[in-house]
Amino acid sequence: MPRITLPDGSVKEFASPVTAAEVAASIGAGLAKAAVGAKVDGELRDLSAVLDRDCALAIVTPEKREGGADADALFLIRHSTAHVMAEAIQNLFPHVKLVYGPPLETGFYYDISFEGGKAISTDDFPALEAEMARIVAENRPFTRYELPAAKGMEKLRAEGSKFKVDNAERAQEAGSTTLSWYATGTPGTNWEDLCRGPHVPSTGRIGAFKLTSLASSYWKGDERLDRLTRVYGTAFATKEELAAHLTQLDEAKKRDHRVLGRQLRLFHIDEMVGQGLILWTPNGSIVRQELQNFISDELRKQGYTQVFTPHIGKLDLYRTSGHFPYYRESQYPPIIEHDQLSMLAKEGCTCGELANRLEKGEIDGYLLKPMNCPHHIRIFASAPHSYRDMPVRLSEFGTVYRWEQSGEIGGMTRVRGFTQDDAHLFCREDQVADELLGCLSLVKLIFGTLGMNEYRVRVGLRDPDSAKYVGDPRNWDKAEEACRTAARTLGVPFSEEPGEAAFYGPKIDFVVKDVIGRSWQLGTVQVDYNLPERFDLSYIGADNQQHRPVMIHRAPFGSMERFVGCLIEHFAGAFPLWLAPEQVRVLPISEKSAAYARELHAALRAAGLRASLDESNDRIQGKIKDASDMKVPYCAVVGPRDAEGRKVSVRAFGTEANLGEIGFDAFVDGLAREYRSRGAETVRSVFGK
Ligand SMILES: [Zn+2]
Ligand SMILES: [Zn+2]
Repeated sequence: MPRITLPDGSVKEFASPVTAAEVAASIGAGLAKAAVGAKVDGELRDLSAVLDRDCALAIVTPEKREGGADADALFLIRHSTAHVMAEAIQNLFPHVKLVYGPPLETGFYYDISFEGGKAISTDDFPALEAEMARIVAENRPFTRYELPAAKGMEKLRAEGSKFKVDNAERAQEAGSTTLSWYATGTPGTNWEDLCRGPHVPSTGRIGAFKLTSLASSYWKGDERLDRLTRVYGTAFATKEELAAHLTQLDEAKKRDHRVLGRQLRLFHIDEMVGQGLILWTPNGSIVRQELQNFISDELRKQGYTQVFTPHIGKLDLYRTSGHFPYYRESQYPPIIEHDQLSMLAKEGCTCGELANRLEKGEIDGYLLKPMNCPHHIRIFASAPHSYRDMPVRLSEFGTVYRWEQSGEIGGMTRVRGFTQDDAHLFCREDQVADELLGCLSLVKLIFGTLGMNEYRVRVGLRDPDSAKYVGDPRNWDKAEEACRTAARTLGVPFSEEPGEAAFYGPKIDFVVKDVIGRSWQLGTVQVDYNLPERFDLSYIGADNQQHRPVMIHRAPFGSMERFVGCLIEHFAGAFPLWLAPEQVRVLPISEKSAAYARELHAALRAAGLRASLDESNDRIQGKIKDASDMKVPYCAVVGPRDAEGRKVSVRAFGTEANLGEIGFDAFVDGLAREYRSRGAETVRSVFGK
């Protein structure tokens, strides 16, 4: 009879098969009331699932844990809401045919064919939501029933939806011998849908929902097949969580770096150049250059040296490093030399043969570099090293190229060419811990300066049960401990993740939370015992013998593209002074103060500030609005009275009122200090604001 192991390790024994709901009730009335589903041996199931043999059981409830709602509970709620939405749509649009409706990370959708009748628009959402609310209020149970596959197919064919017939065929291809339906209420009486489940126990358990948008889609994603309408919605356990999510969506829309990137002219993606290839326009280039200067300044202080390397390298280099042919799918195809190409053409070599011969090394060529490490390794190997010169720290803002599938390309976060804030440290085994500390102190400084104080790190350790790792286990132990120690110095939450290390070494990953609570995976610091081996690197030790160095790869901010994309959203385009493409705009109130405005503009420029002057004939309110649209941090408004007293009226972006008046020199000097100190000192402090 079933022995059921609960998450706390305790075991409950039952005399006969029980449902998950009954087990929940036997634990406590509160749990039974909160339960929306069950996890049986790790698989998400209905609360009504019958447990007839020994298993591990966890009752799923929508209770918040560690700041977020339970992902399994949300899955059940959203999937169930998709059913309620589909029923509501069929009630209001009886001609439609349902296709497929999965839950998503932030909601759900249903693909629906509206062919042969009225189409849906977002104007229909209020009526649909009212119909859904009615179904939810009826608190009908989700009732599962199954039919043998043949019988189920018969039923589906009789109902006449080719979409559902196709879904069922695919379920059978995947190995199902039965087909299951979920009726929202009583089978045969209430609405039902072919579905594997699972669901919440009844419609009343759907806490709060909202229809969000429409999009067009195609059956099976194939544009030669039926045109469908994708109806998106979302659902949460409570109204408060839904409201918080909708606010976040709204904020995210306002901060979308693709939209702001266009509006503030920060970057451009051009079809003639290619998808996923970012063109940094002058404004965006300023932001990037300022960041690179900041990072470079700090690297110099830490004893790094700058290198430059080409964008391509011979295939043999990547055969040695192991990047070719193993990661071929994620690389641009190789570049083959002229002579080789004409020889191949003469021989009538086919594409298949070509790939084969490239792999075997019978044909040589070049690769757009997918990584900077091999080039840096060859720099290290180009000169002998003594233990006294170690570590060698080579840094480069190195551009690499990787082949991303098209489709999701469009902003700076998924690109085909990007520049890493890369560096490679070649060190002695006894230096690994200090070098990791150095890498993390830089991260701490930069995140701190940018006001990104909410971030966490993941320490990827080896899987204790696996033998796939290269290098001495004792060194691994030390390197893993060094990663932990370094992560601890940041003073932010960090998690240890066994099994997440690469086969060649442990690593530290950075995940930043932006101001609206979304997580951005940025870069990594990684210990490597493998490449020094593959490239046979060495240094001469104190014992006059050759020793193998350890490598550390570090690109803590990932790529400049991704990092700037993240910063655009973090600041909603309103960069702090030191990063702002245009730092201050001088706005003369009228022609009378034009000469004074020009003098101020020239002085700001001479102080190294990115200042501009608006000499248009617009009224001052219009000039202020233009500057505000471009999110310029400061406006210096000058009228005849200011000119007379050699004063400036200062406006800061995002504040309604004037900061006040300040003397000409004090303003120029204050801004210059704010810029140079990267915001540690601010001109606003002069005004006490
Ligand atoms: Zn379902
Ligand atoms: Zn590397």
